[in-house]
Amino acid sequence: MSTTEEGSRQEPNPTFLIGSTLAHTTFENTCPSAKSMTGFSQTLERWVVIQVRCKRWGCRHCGERKVTHFGWKCEDAQPNRLITLTVSNSLWENPRAAYEGTKGKVTQLAVRLRRKFGEFEYFKVLEVTKLGWPHFHLIVRSPYIPQQVIAGLWKQLTGAFIVDVRKIRKHRDVYFYVVKYLAKQRYIPWTTRRVSWSKNFFAKETFKSPGSLALIDVCWIDEHPESIIRGHFHPFRIEAYSSDCWAIEKGYGHSVGEPIAQVHRKKSSPQAE
Ligand SMILES: [Zn+2]
Repeated sequence: MSTTEEGSRQEPNPTFLIGSTLAHTTFENTCPSAKSMTGFSQTLERWVVIQVRCKRWGCRHCGERKVTHFGWKCEDAQPNRLITLTVSNSLWENPRAAYEGTKGKVTQLAVRLRRKFGEFEYFKVLEVTKLGWPHFHLIVRSPYIPQQVIAGLWKQLTGAFIVDVRKIRKHRDVYFYVVKYLAKQRYIPWTTRRVSWSKNFFAKETFKSPGSLALIDVCWIDEHPESIIRGHFHPFRIEAYSSDCWAIEKGYGHSVGEPIAQVHRKKSSPQAE
């Protein structure tokens, strides 16, 4: 009979209608080393807490995020060539010296190529061999340039003669090249910079997220957003506005948010990437 079936069904918590454990998924997609920015959003008319990621390559969350971000951005930039520029190990005392001595040469190479061929815009990835020697992968947007010309100039600039030039056949492969270059990176003791790009490689940014919140009374807090929010607000007073921004229910946050902001107020802003 149906009544017996109803009665025999065991609920996990027979005493209370609502279980005691809150399944929080709100903070899953955050950088574990994130700091926070708080402020009053004039557009939302609410206090908000914003995640400021550490942006380090070594951070699993931020590193993977950057790889994907650069992958899509590079694809949008419509490059058409891959160039690998090596350094000549025998000319340098150690890998660090090779890096210091050649890192600025890519800019000079680009200036010379632009003079002769017009456009030469690039995204540069630093990579090291097993033994730690650097070389540079360039994802380039340029007209056709003979390999010998690039190799000749690179040799003049650095003494190295191995230069590989390939045409990108399928536009959709760009994302995978970038991911491949960045995902197999080894730890380099002498620099944290892995990528750089020429000024006009990427299209001009049109999207600026924090501005759309029209923040006032901004302050930086040296604490993870999760600890601020969980420490000061009931979960029902919080709404995730985006994966980086949590808005506090109207009418709250001002009384609570202001004192937190004052306690934690810091003069300096967090480090840039
Ligand atoms: Zn991080």
